[in-house]
Amino acid sequence: MFGELEGSGFEVLDPRFEVCFVGHARVERLWTGGRWLEGPAWFAAGRYLVFSDIPNNRMMRFDETSGQTSVFRSPSNNSNGNTVDNVGRLVTCEHLTRRVTRTEFDGSVSVLTDSFGGKRLNSPNDVVVKSDGSIWFTDPSYGILTDYEGDYGEAELDGCHVYRHDPATGTTRVASDFVKPNGLAFSPDESILYVADTGASHEKDGPRHIRKLSVGENGALTNRGLFAECTAGLFDGFRVDQKGRIWSSAADGVHVFDPDGTLIGKVRIPEGVSNLTFGGPKRNRLFITGTTSLYAVYVTANGSKLG
Ligand code: MG
Repeated sequence: MFGELEGSGFEVLDPRFEVCFVGHARVERLWTGGRWLEGPAWFAAGRYLVFSDIPNNRMMRFDETSGQTSVFRSPSNNSNGNTVDNVGRLVTCEHLTRRVTRTEFDGSVSVLTDSFGGKRLNSPNDVVVKSDGSIWFTDPSYGILTDYEGDYGEAELDGCHVYRHDPATGTTRVASDFVKPNGLAFSPDESILYVADTGASHEKDGPRHIRKLSVGENGALTNRGLFAECTAGLFDGFRVDQKGRIWSSAADGVHVFDPDGTLIGKVRIPEGVSNLTFGGPKRNRLFITGTTSLYAVYVTANGSKLG
């Protein structure tokens, strides 16, 4: 049906990666024409993928039934990370409005949170929903540093932190020792929260890693140290599969880690990768946002959760 896309393919670095794909699987470019794509989220019932095109201030939708991509929402308030909650609703981080929103069943958009302690958030970046309904998100400053991915503006908070929003009790800060917290995901049993720090984007010798934190009662986190250091650019968004492996964005494609932190392989992508998610009816199709283009490849791993 199609040949090998130049600059793409599987790279095995450890035998444990060999069971993660079939040899003839090929990376497809499903759509191109964006500026900085982010936030892929899979909607199982509708068989489509929503993703953000941040500088173009729009969200796109790839329809699996037709293979077509069209505009989903424009303007999008420079949306970045997206996910799906436990009943299938879209949850979105917006740079321009410095908030996290939920799109309701009737299509209206509700604000979940836009401040902490009376001060505006910086620019929520990425988000994940836990099985108990709490919404966890990161709040680095990328959306207020320039006018390119939001509006240039002053930070009101004292740094870039990780938050947990409980629809019943509000927003709490769960980690405050990151430079620029970015992608985040839970282990399959939700005992571990993984959080990327992309501090190296603006600080010489800043962090370029994913950290591991134990999740306790009421969302209390305990630092368990470094999970992995990025060897190509920065880790931005990532997802976890059902076996607990981490599939992370990086400059040269997708880096795949065993739960013990070993880099076991890569899915090479011709452009820098910002994020990815597992989709399709079996959650075994990896959708990858790569700078200007949306890519996909079937793998033999299955995503651990919706969205
Ligand atoms: Mg991000």
